[in-house]
Amino acid sequence: MFHAIRAFALSIALACVALPLAAQPAEAGVQVRKPKLMLVPESMVNGTAAQQYLQMKQRAASRGLLNRDTAQVQRVRAIAQRLIPHGRRFNAEAGNWAWEVNVIDSPAINAFCMPGGKIMVFRGLVEKLQLTDDELAAVIGHEIAHALLQHGRARMSEALLKNVGVNLAAMYFGLGDLGAAALSQAAQLAITLPYSRSHETDADLVGIELAARAGYDPRAAVTLWQKMAAASRGQPPQFLSTHPGHANRIREIEANLPKVMPLYEQSAKAAR
Ligand SMILES: [Zn+2]
Repeated sequence: MFHAIRAFALSIALACVALPLAAQPAEAGVQVRKPKLMLVPESMVNGTAAQQYLQMKQRAASRGLLNRDTAQVQRVRAIAQRLIPHGRRFNAEAGNWAWEVNVIDSPAINAFCMPGGKIMVFRGLVEKLQLTDDELAAVIGHEIAHALLQHGRARMSEALLKNVGVNLAAMYFGLGDLGAAALSQAAQLAITLPYSRSHETDADLVGIELAARAGYDPRAAVTLWQKMAAASRGQPPQFLSTHPGHANRIREIEANLPKVMPLYEQSAKAAR
């Protein structure tokens, strides 16, 4: 019986999901995998992420830890605002997202961008790694890329299938509370589980292209990951638990730099 319900729920869910096609620039830039068909509709993923983000902001604000250093918040926001408009090349919907950029006053070396464009940067990332503007653009670009490529949505879909498959059936049969609880649990997992290697590589590549188009030196992605590796010698940064390093990361970034350097030179010339 449950098999029949789940199969039916799946067919409804799949029918509801529109296939977003990543717009690939023809003339220059990187090539990444197109998003696969995913179980949870994008609007639902973004809505759940927005709720979780709001709760996180409220918790930080109640402890006086939200956007405490005005100059730092302005710097982080200015960099993100230059990167964001270029995201539409990889996800047409991103132009309609309610983007937000906030800084948590925490010593953790961490940052993320939740589905739907909800960016959080931790003070420890900026200060402990002494990031330049180009390096900050590299890490924020990488985070934005995860959201544009809907990696959180993919992880939420996986988490739902693996852990809460029965609640999923309930969700599609109108038992809203069970469905909402399952989704919120999956959303939690989506920001705490490690990304896969293919997600990491794609986020690296889209990240350097966003940076280059926004006029930030994409070669800073290399020094960013070198700093991250150096910082992981004692207590590994929280960032690396969700963004696992691998030996080829820097090599893959370097191999792709020639595809985005012309974009950087163009945008740097335009800015002069
Ligand atoms: Zn990542």
